[in-house]
Amino acid sequence: MLQAALAVGALSAGRFFFPPQDGTPEAAAGRPDRHRPPPHDTPRYPGPAHPSEAYRLRPMAGETSLSGPGASPPHPDVAHTLGTGRREIFLTFDDGPHPRYTPEILRVLRRNGARATFFVIGENADAFPELLQDIADDGHAVGNHTWTHPQLTKLPPGAVRSELGRTSSLIDDVLGTAPNLARAPYGAWDDPSLSICNELGMSPVGWAIDSRDWTEPGVDGITDAVMAEIRPGAIVLSHDGGGERSQTVDALDRYLPHLMADGYRPARIEP
Ligand SMILES: [Zn+2]
Repeated sequence: MLQAALAVGALSAGRFFFPPQDGTPEAAAGRPDRHRPPPHDTPRYPGPAHPSEAYRLRPMAGETSLSGPGASPPHPDVAHTLGTGRREIFLTFDDGPHPRYTPEILRVLRRNGARATFFVIGENADAFPELLQDIADDGHAVGNHTWTHPQLTKLPPGAVRSELGRTSSLIDDVLGTAPNLARAPYGAWDDPSLSICNELGMSPVGWAIDSRDWTEPGVDGITDAVMAEIRPGAIVLSHDGGGERSQTVDALDRYLPHLMADGYRPARIEP
């Protein structure tokens, strides 16, 4: 469907999940305190679903723009804007599911008739499988955001495979369908992790607009960040887990009706 996908994911390497006191976006409270080490056995879900279709959300060559302090050169194989030929936008929510914020975001999306994509952390989905089901039941896409949220580019290939594979297995167990989308923590992909992502049957997804909700800039700040940059096909990054997300919920409730009044249709990402 999205063969005309454009251009490169936004990397924001250099931000790290651990240690949790480093002030990074997803470092604050909100996740289960269980930090189980990733398993190093072979994932039960081997993929690939479509071995011949490498990086199915194939970006258009030549688009590599990324701004912002600390931005790293984006990987050219990761989509951040999807050219669908329609006035669609792609809201994404990372680091959940979370027992408070995920239901609140689902409620706002439902009230507006909007669809979105949720990139879930495996250990959170394991803790709250009913929320995973709620996301899917509302018609949203569920993507893989690894089991414990490590920076994949710092892991050996076996650990990357385990982080992604274990999460796909869990989603498959709960929903009956393995995910076909993945987002690396911090947007940090490299060639080995992209190969493993693809072998597991998933397309890598970046973002074009960082709502910066993780900095808790206030409802106005998040709303302005999204409204100022919105354009057809843009993938928007927000978070339903990993910290205090009430500003994310309130901002969504504010900007979503405006965007839809402007003719944007919030859709789920489909590889
Ligand atoms: Zn994340």
